Amino acid sequence: MMATTVEDRASENPLVEGLERLPVHPTALVIFGGTGDLAHRKLLPALYNLAHEGALPERFEMVGVARRDQPHEDFQSMARQSIERFSRRKPDPAVLQGLVSDMRYVPGAFDDDSVYAELGRTLGEFDERAGIELDRIFYLSTAPQFFPVIAGKLGTAGLNRAEKAQTRIVIEKPFGYDLASARRLNDEVLSVFDESQVFRIDHYLGKETVQNLMALRFANALFEPVWNRNFIDNVQITAAEDIGIEGRAGYYEGAGALRDLVQNHMMQLLALLTMEPPVAFEAKRLRDEKLKVLEAIVPPTVSEVSSMAVRAQYGPGVFRGEPVPAYREEEGVAPDSRTETYAALRVHVSNWRWAGVPFYLRTGKRLARKVTEIAVTLKPVPHLAFQSSGSVGVQANQVILTVQPDEGVSVSLGAKIPGPRMRIRPVNMEFRYGTSFVSESPEAYERLILDAMRGDATLFTRNDEIEALWGIIDPILTAWHEDTTTPIPQYEPGSAGPAEADTLLGGDRTWRRL
Ligand code: NAP
Repeated sequence: MMATTVEDRASENPLVEGLERLPVHPTALVIFGGTGDLAHRKLLPALYNLAHEGALPERFEMVGVARRDQPHEDFQSMARQSIERFSRRKPDPAVLQGLVSDMRYVPGAFDDDSVYAELGRTLGEFDERAGIELDRIFYLSTAPQFFPVIAGKLGTAGLNRAEKAQTRIVIEKPFGYDLASARRLNDEVLSVFDESQVFRIDHYLGKETVQNLMALRFANALFEPVWNRNFIDNVQITAAEDIGIEGRAGYYEGAGALRDLVQNHMMQLLALLTMEPPVAFEAKRLRDEKLKVLEAIVPPTVSEVSSMAVRAQYGPGVFRGEPVPAYREEEGVAPDSRTETYAALRVHVSNWRWAGVPFYLRTGKRLARKVTEIAVTLKPVPHLAFQSSGSVGVQANQVILTVQPDEGVSVSLGAKIPGPRMRIRPVNMEFRYGTSFVSESPEAYERLILDAMRGDATLFTRNDEIEALWGIIDPILTAWHEDTTTPIPQYEPGSAGPAEADTLLGGDRTWRRL
């Protein structure tokens, strides 16, 4: 299939700026689970937007693989509908037609050898038509139990390597269920693919605002000198949602807040916030630095967990004027479920830069509002020269990075209230993406699919990093699993979470208002 050329649209598109450095080789992308929710809402629309921007290689082929039996045409019309419904921009009919009209579909069960034989034939046809071997990307957008099955079958069918082109495998989250299962999955995948071929997705890393965290730290001389234990009092990372589990009990009961958000997205934010500056923004250097800082977080022992972690569930109540059920009353949730819908932790990064600085992480469902942010609170000034009435409103400076919504950065400063007296109150200096940049941010999946096609693994998670992340979380999972009797605190819908979480803070610190 011929997509619009890079040159046509490169000037409009921030995503293609780096193409000269890392060109996208002609590629065949295979989406396992091509009819699923993620493909429908994110992957197919992301492909459309890449096509729209001329960021796809001129020769680009796509195959969907899933269970239902249907002809290519039905898959194409499903893809068209997904794009029309979920693309961030209104599709241009010619670009859309160019993208979907040649899409292919291979039906069958993921453990069925004939699927891989058919897939091999289809990929062979693409190569023949192109007159070269296309790079191959196998995107595993399936339930996690299929990750090792598909990787294994691709190996058996000889699809894990190509003679003259690159083969890569992209693996969705969750990568593992705990440390042991993540190790097992790494072993299984790495028995077929080389680590350099494996792209483990954490779509948070594709978000503009998460990458901006690195821009903020490493492109500004202002922050780095204070980014350490001498100046920073504490850091709070919050990922709050205002919705409940929205009918996803089947998934959520087996996951819980800690696995769903803390082990991956929130710990990634922590790593990017605390790592040493990498020498270059490239896969090995960046991931080496993240790994070092993750290894500096000493996992708690099982007996220490109760003093550094709090779990809770949302109770019944009224949320924005509507009665809402408790988590335990949601359809598909066991009435005695101990799965947490809220988790808060206190962790320490034990190295020279961060020793003694507490990092507080909290996430929960059905909280007061939806927000993902990092709040870095500096230490108070050492001496206040103002008279007592002037010093009342003085507060420690804060740097707040908002990942969503209202993406941006704000810095709080103490300023004098106009008038004859020296009275001070905090004011904010703000940068907002929405007003500072006119161009719309690409979706995380656009960036990540393009990076996988370029072979740039900088924003993907390496095997050792995955295991380090699980190593920190594993004792908490174990402690919570073993404790079958302590009542799980319940919090009110629309609140900031359970009062028990305050016990983690110490001193006169409080959680930021939600
Ligand atoms: P989903 O909607 O349940 O889709 C599953 C896909 O796998 C469908 O295409 C289904 O085909 C296919 N499938 C299931 N069993 C199969 C089998 N035995 N043989 C062949 N095909 C089979 O799942 P999803 O929500 O898209 O999630 C996919 C992955 O992305 C998961 O790992 C999830 O954790 C991750 N993820 C999802 C989201 C999201 O927003 N959905 C966000 C982040 C990560 P049929 O439709 O033909 O049955």
